[in-house]
Amino acid sequence: MAATKAPVALITGITGQDGAYLSQFLLGRGYRVIGLLRRSASADVVGERLRWLGVHERVQLVDGNISDLSSLIRVVEAAAPDEVYHLAAQSFVATSWQQPLVTATATGLGVIHLLEAVRIVRPMARFYQASSSEMFGLAAAEPQNESTPFHPRSPYACAKLFGHWMTVNYRESFGMHACSGILFNHESPLRGIEFVTRRITDAVARIHLGLASEVRLGNLDAERDWGHARDYVRAMWLMLQQEIAGDYVVATGRTTSVREFCRLAFAEVGRDWAAHVTSDPARLRPAEVARLRGDARRARQVLGWAPETSLETMVAEMVEADLARHRARLARG
Ligand code: NAP
Ligand code: GDP
Repeated sequence: MAATKAPVALITGITGQDGAYLSQFLLGRGYRVIGLLRRSASADVVGERLRWLGVHERVQLVDGNISDLSSLIRVVEAAAPDEVYHLAAQSFVATSWQQPLVTATATGLGVIHLLEAVRIVRPMARFYQASSSEMFGLAAAEPQNESTPFHPRSPYACAKLFGHWMTVNYRESFGMHACSGILFNHESPLRGIEFVTRRITDAVARIHLGLASEVRLGNLDAERDWGHARDYVRAMWLMLQQEIAGDYVVATGRTTSVREFCRLAFAEVGRDWAAHVTSDPARLRPAEVARLRGDARRARQVLGWAPETSLETMVAEMVEADLARHRARLARG
C-alpha cells in the first residue's frame, strides 16, 4: 500500500509568535512545514521562538521576503504547498506611525505579492490572511463581528484593511480558497517584547528579581479582548479545512483594561501594581483604539472553535516564563 503524502504548509512569518505556535500545531497534525525566512544578519537568533517550542529542527526554512514578488514565486513553486498561512507583517501598531511606508509595503502590499504568487503558481492552494481586530478601530458597535464596519486608526490598521479586502477580492475574482481571519489580540510567552502584555510581564519579572523598580506604560485605560496564541492558530487551521472559504472573527468575548492586566500580572508575584506602574504621556499614541471586544459566534458555529485558555492562566504562564528567562540570564552572569 502506498504511503499517503504529508500535507505541505507554507508559513510566512514563521519566526514570529503565531508562526511558531502554528508550526508546532501543524507538525502535530502530520504536516510538512516550510517557513519563509527573510535574510537577516542575526539569522542565528531569529529562530528563537521555534527553538523555545522545540520545533526548530523539524521545520524547513527557505529564503524570501514578502516585499519581493519574485522570491515568493520561487518559494511557492519549490514548496508546492497545500495550505499557505500568510502571517508575515510589520505587526506593531506604534511603529506604523514611525514607518508608514515600510508598514504599507510589508503589511499591505505583501498580501498581494503572496496572493499573486499563489494565483500564478499554485492556485489550488488554500490561503490564510492574518487580518486584525485593529481594522475595527473606532468601533461602530460592540461586540464586533464579521459585519461590523471598519474604521482603522493607524497606518498598520489601514494596511491590514487593504490586505483583508484583497483576500476577499481574490476569492471573489479568481475563486481562490482564501480566508481572512480577523483575530483579536492574542498573547503568549512568545509575544514580542514591545507589546503591552509582554512589556508588563517582563517588567513584573525584572522588578521581582530586583533588576528594575518601575515600568512606564502609555494609556492604562485601553481595553483589549486578549486570548492565547496557541488557541488562535487552531482557528487559522480550521478555516482552511472548510469546503467553502470565508472570513471569521476570532476572539474570547471578554475585554480587560491594561490597568487590570497590570493588576493580574503583579499579583502573580504578590505585588501591588500601583507601586510600580506609571502612565507616561510620551507613550500615548497619535490615535488610540480605546476598546475592542469580539463576537466569535460564527467561528464557534461553523468551525466548532472556542478558546481554551483563560486570561488568568495566560498571565500566569507569561509571568512564569519571563521569571525563568531572567533567572537564566542572572545564572549565566
Ligand atoms: P510577529 O511576532 O511580529 O511576527 C511577524 C513575522 O513577520 C516575523 O516572522 C517577521 O520576521 C516576519 N516579517 C516581517 N516582515 C517581513 C518581510 N518583509 N519578509 C518576510 N517576513 C517578514 O507577529 P505575530 O504576533 O506572530 O502575528 C502574526 C500575524 O498576525 C501578523 O501579520 C500580525 O499583524 C497579525 N495579527 C496579530 C495579532 C496578535 O495579537 N498577535 C492580532 C491580529 C493580527 P522576523 O522574525 O525576521 O522579524
Ligand atoms: P495593539 O492592540 O496591537 O496596539 O497591541 P499593543 O499591545 O501594542 O497595545 C494594546 C493597547 O495597550 C493599546 O491601546 C496601547 O495604547 C496600550 N498601551 C498602553 N501602554 C502601552 C505600552 O507601553 N506599550 C504598548 N505596546 N501598548 C501600550
